[in-house]
Amino acid sequence: MRFEELPTPCYVVDEALVEKNLKILNGVMERTGCKIVLAQKAFSMSSLYPLIGEYLSGTTASGLFEARLGYEEMGKENHVFAPAYRDDEIDEIISICDHIIFNSFSQLEKFKDKALTAGKKVGLRINPECSTQVGHEIYDPCSPGSRFGVTKEHFRGDLLDGVSGLHFHTLCQQNSDDLETTLNAVEEKFGEWLPQMEWINFGGGHHITRTDYDIPLLEACIKRMQEKYGLEVYLEPGEAVALNAGYLITTVLDTLQNSMDIAILDTSASCHMPDVLEMPYRPPLFGSGESGEKPFTYRLGGQTCLAGDVIGDYSFDEPLKSGDRLVFGDMAIYSMVKNTTFNGMALPAIAVKDKDGDCRVVQKFGYEDFKIRLA
Ligand SMILES: *Cc1c(COP(=O)(O)O)cnc(C)c1O
Repeated sequence: MRFEELPTPCYVVDEALVEKNLKILNGVMERTGCKIVLAQKAFSMSSLYPLIGEYLSGTTASGLFEARLGYEEMGKENHVFAPAYRDDEIDEIISICDHIIFNSFSQLEKFKDKALTAGKKVGLRINPECSTQVGHEIYDPCSPGSRFGVTKEHFRGDLLDGVSGLHFHTLCQQNSDDLETTLNAVEEKFGEWLPQMEWINFGGGHHITRTDYDIPLLEACIKRMQEKYGLEVYLEPGEAVALNAGYLITTVLDTLQNSMDIAILDTSASCHMPDVLEMPYRPPLFGSGESGEKPFTYRLGGQTCLAGDVIGDYSFDEPLKSGDRLVFGDMAIYSMVKNTTFNGMALPAIAVKDKDGDCRVVQKFGYEDFKIRLA
């Protein structure tokens, strides 16, 4: 099917663009010998896992279901971190994961023997208390009172028996200069325990596939840990794997006026692009300009009853009319993994655009998907 023939609303993931990102990530692996795994919470589209598995070392998960998806659909190295594990899930997690990363010494003490007996690698998440992001506290695992990772004050060098690696995750959409700053803090606070480790995991939040990302500095950071401490280095980006590799196609249903022009789309910021409201950010829209830049400016809103279900103000060369199709960019990551059926909104279909430009719908949703999860 052609892109123009796809039903709306529909997420379309562009295989060629995902592969372009994968080649960049694979280049870092080849040049440094580090391992990169997909953090599935950003992008769990399992029909693309065979492609992703050709380039990356495996998957990482935030709990049992993601871990199972990585195990069943990619089947390569499988890592897991969770703020705490449930007693009734830990056995299955250990059976399908290779690296089990704990968030506290109490969780480590509780479960590490099981993991070690099963021959799995045990890691501990540390908190270097080094905030490098400005603006959104909600994405800062180093903010005061954070529940993520053991701080230096609570670190117990005497309880590291069986721990083969340390994990930190402090970045969000950041460049390698912030990674370097973070590594300095990691070394300053936890450096004395690095020589006894086998591996270190730099977490995610590395925007490696963004055009202005400084890859040589990233590679220097990786080599520093490899050479100084003999560590195997892991990265677990989510965003970078599918950054700018997907679209959300939507149709204009109506236009109206209230002190400005407004268009209602067959989508919803709240249901189909929640990070537009949560992050918040303004998604790119093909063929549009900033508010007032082109002659016809519209406020683009969704179909739900939420007053704030607004994607943003965009301008166009021609007036919008019912039936026009609009294509939002950067809609692969943190979109379909977070969507909801609030207000009975149907979930967008999911399609793949293959390397020849052919599109095929790989998943569709309907009324039952709304009903079934609400009992
Ligand atoms: C969210 C998360 C990632 C992935 O982060 P991105 O910003 O999508 O690259 C990796 N590791 C952990 C522990 C995370 O919580």
